[in-house]
Amino acid sequence: MRDLITSIDSTRLGFFKSILDEAGIACFIRNETTAQLTNIFIGPLQPTLCLVEDGDFEQASALLQPRQTEGACSSEEWLCTACKESNPASFEVCWKCQAVKNE
Ligand SMILES: [Zn+2]
Repeated sequence: MRDLITSIDSTRLGFFKSILDEAGIACFIRNETTAQLTNIFIGPLQPTLCLVEDGDFEQASALLQPRQTEGACSSEEWLCTACKESNPASFEVCWKCQAVKNE
């Protein structure tokens, strides 16, 4: 097991996890529930996206790196009208339910 990304934003981690799932990389989010319950910034308990296989690290990083940069440049997210999930501004369809962005 290896930590890949730690972020207080568990929605974002869920998005990253969906990318890895699609690529067939086994992963899970640690501390997600804890963070939601406490809703405060506590270092070791921040949600962390973990890889089951250490050997997947490079592939996973390569997959997620462009997405991380995307997110850093754009703070404008939109809410999916169908499932209420937030999506990066650059996405034309909801990452979760594939509903088309409604402007
Ligand atoms: Zn949606």
